[in-house]
Amino acid sequence: EAEEAGEDDAELLPRPPVVTVMGHVDHGKTKLLDAIRSTDVVAGEAGGITQSIGAYQVRVHLGDETRPITFIDTPGHEAFTAMRARGAEVTDIAILVVAADDGVMPQTVEALNHAQAAGVPIVVAVNKIDKEGANPEKIRGQLTEYGLVPEEYGGDTMFVDISAKQRTNIDGLLEAVLLTADAALDLRANPNTDARGVTVEAKLDRGRGAVATVLVERGTLRVGDPIVAGSAYGRVRAMFDEHGNTLEEAGPARPAQVLGLTSVPSAGDSFIVAPDDRTARQIADRREAAGRAAELAKRRKRVSLENLTDVLKEGKVDTLNLILKGDSSGAVEALEDSLLKIDVGDEVALRVIHRGVGAVTQSDVDLATVDSAVIIGFNVRPAVRVAELADREGVDMKFYTVIYNAIEDVEAAMKGMLKPIYEEVELGTAEIRQVFRSSKFGSIAGSIVRSGVIKRGAKARLVRDGVVVNGDLTVETLRREKDDVTEVREGYECGINLSFRDIAEGDVIETWEMREKPRE
Ligand code: GDP
Repeated sequence: EAEEAGEDDAELLPRPPVVTVMGHVDHGKTKLLDAIRSTDVVAGEAGGITQSIGAYQVRVHLGDETRPITFIDTPGHEAFTAMRARGAEVTDIAILVVAADDGVMPQTVEALNHAQAAGVPIVVAVNKIDKEGANPEKIRGQLTEYGLVPEEYGGDTMFVDISAKQRTNIDGLLEAVLLTADAALDLRANPNTDARGVTVEAKLDRGRGAVATVLVERGTLRVGDPIVAGSAYGRVRAMFDEHGNTLEEAGPARPAQVLGLTSVPSAGDSFIVAPDDRTARQIADRREAAGRAAELAKRRKRVSLENLTDVLKEGKVDTLNLILKGDSSGAVEALEDSLLKIDVGDEVALRVIHRGVGAVTQSDVDLATVDSAVIIGFNVRPAVRVAELADREGVDMKFYTVIYNAIEDVEAAMKGMLKPIYEEVELGTAEIRQVFRSSKFGSIAGSIVRSGVIKRGAKARLVRDGVVVNGDLTVETLRREKDDVTEVREGYECGINLSFRDIAEGDVIETWEMREKPRE
């Protein structure tokens, strides 16, 4: 699907993919980003890409074409999910780096979970194939268990064997990125409109003031444009690329370092071009005020095991997303197995979006924030800093030492998410002994309750000689002697007003009410 809804299709032009490199620590993410940087064939600079501005673009040969790819220069899924937590979905494709001499490790799994939760396609870079003991086949086998099935085995994930250190087959990896983008994504954007995009990195520079690297998502950013990034604003005074060259303009998927903002935005903040300086400032002020209000509202909105039903009423959840953390992989597996066996019918599903061994981390909380997940910890605790973050973000964390208690809570929460089923419950019947007609009250049925109870407000049908005369009535008023009452029991006389004229002596009034049916 084209990503700019409402945009005239003819205005949309192909744009480069934006890629994030993820993987376990020491598997070679940084080395790979360095290697890719040095493959830029058209850079023309002696040292290739020299500046670290938070993102860079390289040009890659594919057939007869030369095509750009943009890389986010901060490796790891933590930064990726932290950006998503701020609403920035910049990454189109994730490169998952796995060291061939090591294998799939906890952060490998964490990274692929985060990418999959974001719906971002993955290309696997099997790294360090130069090393003794490298076993690329083992990596393929291991990742198949996580749903990443290599193309050569009939799946749709491309695996590329590389050595980041010796710069072996980096071209092959970049080609795989482009082929995956072409196969899985329709990456187009309109370059001929006011720019908007995302802040990738920002800092305060002593000489140059606020320096922000932005990634243009659509439109073209130009020197002189008044812009707002988060609640910072200003006029683009100068722009630089990753080679340190000045830029006059930056189009879709082009990272650019921007000078001229009056304050420093945060990574993940969106930016837009405003019509003029004054409007830029107003938007920034409004965002700052709204940001504070949203911060407060967010706390109340986020899903927890207790407020699921409310969130459901807003139509937001029919899947309960969980993040499971435990003190051992066996415990996490056992917990997941038991939780996935909970069955409350087809209306509510449970999805474990991430699992892992160890304490609850900031990236767990970020992921929970983005995907409205509840964190379940088994024999683990969060760090103080992480607990504070969860509290601030309104993320629900539950800690257990007995699996059964976790199952009970989750099952109760899922049942709470079910839409209630109502059923008709018969309440009682009355026989009309005498009919009183008054101009003020209409026809009053002087009756005796034959069975059960008659309640004010109950639904009623009028039955005459075994035939339903009217099946859609309500007990509008109910009286005993001269008093209005709410109910009258079997054997007692009462006056019933059904707001229906055609009643007669001997008619039977049957009553019922709709009750929520308990689920077993
Ligand atoms: P990161 O933590 O994932 O960013 O990993 P680094 O890029 O810092 O790499 C960790 C270590 O592995 C460093 O000592 C690298 O030199 C080494 N390394 C990375 N890629 C390769 C490779 O392809 N072959 C070999 N032999 N070593 C590598």
